[in-house]
Amino acid sequence: MISNSSLPDTALKILQQTFGYHDFRGTQADIINHICAGHDALVLMPTGGGKSLCYQIPALVRDGIGIVISPLIALMEDQVQALRANGVRAAYLNSTLDWQEVQLIEQQMRDNQLDLVYVAPERLCTDRFLSLLDDCQISLFALDEAHCVSQWGHDFRPDYRHVTLLHQRWPHIPRIALTATADRETRSDIIQQLALEEAKIFVSSFDRPNITYAVAIKKNPRAQLLSFIRKNHAEDAGIIYCQSRKKVEETAAWLCKEGFKALPYHAGLSPNQRKQNQDRFIKDEGIIMVATIAFGMGIDKPNVRFVAHLDLPKSMEAYYQETGRAGRDGLKSNVWMTYGMQDVALHRHLIQDSPAPDEQKRVDHSRLNALLGYCETTKCRRQALLSYFGEVLPEPCNNCDTCLEKVESYDGTVQAQKALSAIYRTGQRFGAGHLIDVLIGNKTDRITQYGHDRLPTFGVGKDLDKKQWQSVFRQLLAQGLFHVNHDLHGAFELCEASRLLLKGQKSITLRKDPTSKGINAMRGKRTSPTELAALSDSDKLLLEELRTLRLALAQDQNVPPYVIFHDRTLLEMVQHRPQTPNQLLDINGVGGRKLERYGEDFLSCIKDAQLDQAS
Ligand code: ADP
Ligand code: ZN
Repeated sequence: MISNSSLPDTALKILQQTFGYHDFRGTQADIINHICAGHDALVLMPTGGGKSLCYQIPALVRDGIGIVISPLIALMEDQVQALRANGVRAAYLNSTLDWQEVQLIEQQMRDNQLDLVYVAPERLCTDRFLSLLDDCQISLFALDEAHCVSQWGHDFRPDYRHVTLLHQRWPHIPRIALTATADRETRSDIIQQLALEEAKIFVSSFDRPNITYAVAIKKNPRAQLLSFIRKNHAEDAGIIYCQSRKKVEETAAWLCKEGFKALPYHAGLSPNQRKQNQDRFIKDEGIIMVATIAFGMGIDKPNVRFVAHLDLPKSMEAYYQETGRAGRDGLKSNVWMTYGMQDVALHRHLIQDSPAPDEQKRVDHSRLNALLGYCETTKCRRQALLSYFGEVLPEPCNNCDTCLEKVESYDGTVQAQKALSAIYRTGQRFGAGHLIDVLIGNKTDRITQYGHDRLPTFGVGKDLDKKQWQSVFRQLLAQGLFHVNHDLHGAFELCEASRLLLKGQKSITLRKDPTSKGINAMRGKRTSPTELAALSDSDKLLLEELRTLRLALAQDQNVPPYVIFHDRTLLEMVQHRPQTPNQLLDINGVGGRKLERYGEDFLSCIKDAQLDQAS
């Protein structure tokens, strides 16, 4: 092993020569030094933060093989392809390999011919694997997606608990657990489950500055979605989340009719079909994946330019994870959701009706409430999001819908009292439509049939229109100021909190939903032009050429285009127009191996484009 004093140098050299990057980011250097020195670490870093290098570089610096536990086959394949493209000796052991392939890799491991081996957690407790490790020199154990060990997390994998076996058997090998999960319960569970009490914890900011956040009030969700995509992402890859399989299918089919390359993904498709769709999403450019939450974990695609939610996610954590799949490469990306009263009612009902114990229901309700608060906020969304995860953003971000177009608020106590009293006076048997008719004094047949035109509440709400009353009811429901009874056709019912308001012991502030012309519906101008959209025409042309070349090379080798070069690297090539191999090596993301392999192709593509443009 090399001496401590030369560690930083070696690591930096590997970063530059093998991975082609100039400098370490944020806490990367500290983490890498810590692991190289043989200590344990827990790394909490958002998606796109650069976690992989934190164990890949120590595995290259230290003698022996780095064993990486990774939950998904797609994830392993992706990482191994990317490593090999940089000339790193990496392999994976999983169920897709045949017996001979497994034997070959095991032999290479015994002969210390590999630097990194990715394995699935199921394999850890097999005697075969443990005795294989006995025959190998191991440099470190890395536990990727460490939140899978926690049942509080969103992707609980019981097999992850076997990881403790490794530590018991090889107590002196450094361990590094990594996750992008930001919530505290999951974090402490990880420490406990993995016996990482002694490990140093490295926490990065969970802010994703390149993401623009927006929430639109649901009116005509399809039209809203279409205008969002057409304005901002006509040719980009993105993910659209829906609640149900049926809605996934219908939305994907509809988008195809509208001229987009959209594919469905949900647990009801055959494994084969799912794999096929996922492969296309990863290997083609500009595919929109319409999916249930079954899709996403282990998708390393760096250039997902947008994530849209047609339905409300189940919690703030889920929202953060799902939206976090946008913009892993650090380039500008949009996150957008439509949200309405139905979403609130449905989610409350799902939690209430689930067979989970009361304690779990209580946690689920409070997690949902936090998300509703985020949806209804009149302040900076990023501040709301980060503060939920215990982080303080001192200033509003100026990169979310509520920052870009201020949302006004008003004292809605009187309106709320009127709305609740309409619920009370009509016997707690009706939903929003009828109650609004009562409030605005709309004499429908139903109103006269029930004699509701004779109620004292009839017509007391003429100061607001129908849409505004809908907004009031939605906000009251989101704040838990009345309940929806699903056993009684969704009738609104009062609760303890309603009484306080009705008695005047509590006041309430409400938001004025922006009009459809507002930024909330993401109409009008692009709010966040992507770096690509901001290029000059000749730059765009060159970028197109480079992308075409990249796609051809990728298809040739049957790897995703980003394994060759990231969008970010191509963009830098366009901006700097390198002419010599050395200049190309200066571009972020071009290391020694890639220069050797692709340098000539990309340099001549740049030269040709310049000749064309000059003539
Ligand atoms: P995570 O696993 O945390 O989501 P990745 O390890 O996939 O993040 O890294 C995200 C992106 O950032 C990748 O494209 C990676 O190549 C890039 N990256 C990581 N570290 C650096 C660095 N020091 N300099 C430049 N780019 C980096
Ligand atoms: Zn903001």
